[in-house]
Formats: sequence, structure tokens, C-alpha cells
Amino acid sequence: MNINLKALGNVTEDERMTKKMIVVSGPSGAGKTTLVKYLMEKLPRLQFAVSATTRPLRGDEVNGRDYYFLSEDEFKEKVKLHEFLEHEEVYEGLLYGTLKEEIKRCWDNDEIPVLDIDVKGALNIKLHHGDYCLFVFVHPGDIYRLQERLKHRGTESDASLKKRLARAEEELNYSQEFDVVIYNRSLESASHELLERVVHFLNDEMSSTQL
Ligand code: 5GP
Repeated sequence: MNINLKALGNVTEDERMTKKMIVVSGPSGAGKTTLVKYLMEKLPRLQFAVSATTRPLRGDEVNGRDYYFLSEDEFKEKVKLHEFLEHEEVYEGLLYGTLKEEIKRCWDNDEIPVLDIDVKGALNIKLHHGDYCLFVFVHPGDIYRLQERLKHRGTESDASLKKRLARAEEELNYSQEFDVVIYNRSLESASHELLERVVHFLNDEMSSTQL
């Protein structure tokens, strides 16, 4: 994977300098989604930033809750209109992106957006938001563990599983670029560690009673 950093677009200087975000990244199947859900249960001021994607909806996913499911044309139109904070072709032919409007909505409601995005997207944001974001890398422990988790999830075809594992191996090389690396060997200890790190990050802005 070639990490090619690019400009964020129309986020104003004020937004860049004063607003916080939590960006959770790492290979698909490392447990990001579960950890993000846990965080949001514990800290009501956090709000999941729903991404847009062109991948087909899975089993119990809901449009507008898990993703905004768009056609490729719809997605590309939004790219043209600079509506994305970042966007990537995460897997061949499958586009994913963070909508600026989604982030703005959180900030307008005095919430802190939590993004669950791939490594390349996270590093692109890091280039522009550095000090005001917490960049978390969820590490699966090892590739074998990841393979088992993806198989167990049962959402991927053999071909898709192969692609996800190949990409995961590359993504692991970038873990050191992140502020925090959470090793998800045990969900319980990973959840607690993540919560502690996020509270610490937020604490200079608000007291724990507001959290
Ligand atoms: P999945 O198809 O399993 O939901 O997601 C595949 C990968 O795309 C995951 O690593 C997920 O974090 C990432 N992803 C989800 N939304 C976005 C996004 O808005 N931008 C980027 N760059 N990656 C995303």
C-alpha cells in the first residue's frame, strides 16, 4: 500500500484549530467497530461519524446508521463537489469516505466525532488535524487472529477475505504513525485501555462529569 497524502479541502482554519475528533483505524476485522461502540456507550458526548460507501449493504446493516450506501455515480458526484474530508478506494472498486457534513453536524451539536476508517484515510487526516485529533490504531495481535476473526464474522467471500488479509498485512506497518496502539488480544482489556486513553485525551477540554 502506498500512502499518498492529499489535501483535505474546505475545512476552515477555525475548524482545523479548535475542534476535536477521534480517529480509530487499523485492519478490517481487528475489532474497531466493537471498540468504537463500547467507547460511545461509555462517553455519550462521542458521536459515530457515518461514512459513505459504494460497497453493498451487509446483513443487518442500516443505511444512514452504519454507512450511507451510495452508487458509484453518487459517490463520485460528492467527490467532485468536495463534500469529503477524505475518501479512499479501500478495496478494488469499493469507495469509502468521510463526509464533511457529518463531522460538522457533530461539532454543531457540541459532540465529538469518532471515525472508523482505514489507515490511509486516517493518515491523510493526521496531516491536517494533527494536534486536535486522537489517532488510534487497533492492532489485531497477529494476522492469524485476524484471519480467524474475519472467518468467524462470516461476512466475506474467500476472495474478499484474501484481499482483506493482504491489505491488513500492509496496514500493520503503519501502526507506529498513530498516537495510540491498542492490542486487541482481549476485548475487555483493549476496551478499558482505549477508554482510558480517550478520556485522557478529552480531559484537558472537559471535566469527567461532562463526559
Ligand atoms: P467494511 O467494509 O468492513 O465496513 O470497511 C472496510 C474498511 O473501510 C474498514 O477498514 C473501515 O474502517 C474502512 N472505512 C470505513 N469508512 C471509511 C471512510 O470513510 N474512509 C476510509 N478511508 N475508510 C473507511
